[in-house]
Amino acid sequence: MNIAANTPAGHFIAGEWITGGGKPRQSFDPATGEALGGWLPGSAELAGQAIAAARSAFDRSAWPASPRQRAQALFEFADRLEARKDELGALIVAENGKLQAEAAGEVAGAVSEIRYYAGLARNITGRTLETAPGNVSLLNREPAGVAAIIVPWNAPVTLLVRSLAPALAAGCTAVIKPAEQTPLIHRAVIECLAGCPSLPAGVVNSVNENGSAVGEALVVSPDVDVVSFTGSSRTGRLIMAAAAPTLKRLSLELGGKAPAIVFDDADLETAVRELTRGALVMAGQICIAAARFLVHEKVLPEFREKAKAAFASVRVGPGADRQSQMGSLIDVENRSRLERLIEQAGDEGSMVLKGEAPAGVLAKGAFLTPTLFEIGDLRSGLVQEELFGPIVSLESFADEAEAVHKANATRYGLAASVFTRDLARATRVSRAIRAGTVWLNCHTRLLAEAETGGYRQSGLGRLHGAEGLNDFLETKHVYFEAGVV
Ligand code: NAD
Repeated sequence: MNIAANTPAGHFIAGEWITGGGKPRQSFDPATGEALGGWLPGSAELAGQAIAAARSAFDRSAWPASPRQRAQALFEFADRLEARKDELGALIVAENGKLQAEAAGEVAGAVSEIRYYAGLARNITGRTLETAPGNVSLLNREPAGVAAIIVPWNAPVTLLVRSLAPALAAGCTAVIKPAEQTPLIHRAVIECLAGCPSLPAGVVNSVNENGSAVGEALVVSPDVDVVSFTGSSRTGRLIMAAAAPTLKRLSLELGGKAPAIVFDDADLETAVRELTRGALVMAGQICIAAARFLVHEKVLPEFREKAKAAFASVRVGPGADRQSQMGSLIDVENRSRLERLIEQAGDEGSMVLKGEAPAGVLAKGAFLTPTLFEIGDLRSGLVQEELFGPIVSLESFADEAEAVHKANATRYGLAASVFTRDLARATRVSRAIRAGTVWLNCHTRLLAEAETGGYRQSGLGRLHGAEGLNDFLETKHVYFEAGVV
């Protein structure tokens, strides 16, 4: 039951909805500009209360030592989320601007991931060594403590679950800080958690943001043991600096600038289809979006025409309309930012297809059609920086070495893709690319079972997969000399 639909979305602390904090604010539908509902900003004080609740649940409840209960709580959470999948999907479309299929995929992915970690909760095992007869070492895996989970707006359900599910499976307690742009989606997810019979009060807490006061309070608190952050590399750097005095464990899933290398033997139809989707999914507002098309000079003219036609045919419109093929941006401020970048792209490169804000019925929403521009200067900010929207650079290369050099030429290393029919070349190039994920002949495939994360300034640590637990576990060595007689 949606217990708070008509009241502003509040905070959830020690098992209770808290209505304190600042004056209510409105959340808006980026596709129409209409107000969707109210939410309450948080404060450093509320963050302190939430940390105290999580600390107490970790230090005083049986949760950290109850893997079966944790598995049960996660299964309950998954079931409750699944039962509300249609309502959640509609909310994601409304508050996030996504297409219905993207929203449905987001909820289904979250449910699958929670069930995956529910299984892992009962499979956290250490090791035993006997270094000499009767000299026994136990290497125990213990929950790390209180985890602060800070999430961005672009996938508010899956990115929360991607950190929260392993944190809970490992036995941590948590304080969540959602993004300011998606408070209503977040409330619906927390409602699902709040009703789980096997989840003790205080294990999961949530405080809405107010500027950056709540996030900062979580990062500096000596009672928080781990910060699991997903967001921009810029904020990741601020968090790393702010966490230094307390030497916190950090899991940082940061920005990206994914290159897609298309060799001259590639199936161009497949490459264009995969990369159109890979670049424009979620209107390009996803860290792993294909942001740079690196194309062998021999097939560049053909690829350029095919990609231009594919981008031009994408029907931009409200996520609620099943005919739409690309939804809106998160807000009109971001559209203005991207429009300035499109002008810059026209100045620095040559425009293949210029994106624009559509007129007519879409004019009220944060819509922008796709842009493809060609550029040769690797040092350009348009090539080096994450643009986070439906804008893609087209770059050429003459041979494999140049392709790899260009692919590795930014400070990011989150994801990449390679299109070729030559398996040996695909293997060589995937080894040479410095990124946490490399897709071959496809782009944008994420699995609960397979680790993701960044090389270089795309982050620290891995989420998804069995290694996703590592950020939330400590290893303790217990040693004894029992003797053998
Ligand atoms: P952002 O860095 O602006 O904000 C992310 C979160 O950090 C928000 O909840 C925000 O309120 C909070 N925050 C801001 N300042 C803070 C501070 N000083 N201390 C603590 N918390 C603070 O990012 P965004 O615009 O919300 O999201 C887009 C970015 O996220 C892009 O760069 C994208 O690549 C990245 N992202 C990365 C991944 C990944 O898996 N690597 C996934 C999704 C998004």
